[in-house]
Amino acid sequence: MPARIIDGRVLSGRIIEALRSEIEQLAEQGCEIRLVAVQVGDNPSSRLYLKSQQREARHLGIAYELRQLPAYATEDDVAELIDMLNDDKRVSGIILQMPLPERMNARRLQWRIDRLKDVEGVNPANMGMVVYGQPQLAPCTAMAVYELVKDCHGDIRGAEICIVGHSAIVGKPAMLLLLSDLGTTTTCHIGTRNLAEHTRRADILVVAVGKPGLITGKMIRPGATVIDVGINRVPMLDQAGQPVLNERGRPRCRTVGDVLFDEAAEVAGAITPVPGGVGQVTTAILLRNTVQAARWQFGQSKIPAEHS
Ligand code: NAP
Repeated sequence: MPARIIDGRVLSGRIIEALRSEIEQLAEQGCEIRLVAVQVGDNPSSRLYLKSQQREARHLGIAYELRQLPAYATEDDVAELIDMLNDDKRVSGIILQMPLPERMNARRLQWRIDRLKDVEGVNPANMGMVVYGQPQLAPCTAMAVYELVKDCHGDIRGAEICIVGHSAIVGKPAMLLLLSDLGTTTTCHIGTRNLAEHTRRADILVVAVGKPGLITGKMIRPGATVIDVGINRVPMLDQAGQPVLNERGRPRCRTVGDVLFDEAAEVAGAITPVPGGVGQVTTAILLRNTVQAARWQFGQSKIPAEHS
């Protein structure tokens, strides 16, 4: 039987609705929530993501500001802007838009963001709280994976969970969040000897790699829940297998995940589509983190102690 399609818009809609009343309450008390995205140059691959952040934030009554630095900006310029935003009392949350130019040390700049304004959860202090099982501002995509799994499964204690991909921002924190609810987690990566052996055991399979077609139907346990985090642009092909061209003669592209969706949907019990799955929930988590940051800022909830 074909899998149930997990529509990310449903969970993201619920998260956003729950935020609406919180935001209204803050607004009644004169607290304006402001999210600032910092971008260096104009990377076409992040344009769509920025637009959707902006639309969703404004829709909720969160002020959204894009600070665009020129492509020739230096790492010091970015650091200076981050320092300024850290000190600016009107700013609730800061996003440092990736990718940055290669000459910059992205991690060093991410670490510079005040942990209380780090709405993407990339500061080591926020990552560390995930290790302790007490997430405060957790990495958004990892938290989106966790929320989707919980929404689909409820109790995951003892469930076999396989996470493919061990990046610091997605795979590892997703593993830790699922582990904190006593899922039996296995993390696979480039050094894993027989990937299918692990994926086929999983009740819940999370794939966050960035390789289209990495996971085929045969690699999935019948009835498993599949969460596909990957976002890949691949050329569209016609029935003869030739690239479809646009009006300018360039190949048309479409967005796919890391899982071969049609094959997987024949085997899995439930599966997230790409687009329309994890990405939708990630934006909702980003806004939830922003509201949390604002509540600390306006004294509406207790600021987590640095060392407690
Ligand atoms: P990343 O930093 O490039 O990490 C990819 C991970 O996959 C690495 O841990 C890598 O291992 C591992 N890997 C590579 N080849 C593999 C293979 N053949 N088998 C098993 N593991 C393999 O990427 P990321 O930031 O985690 O993102 C992963 C994907 O999710 C990308 O497509 C990205 O666009 C997408 N993404 C989606 C969202 C969303 O909201 N939906 C958000 C963020 C990212 P090594 O490091 O050992 O090579």
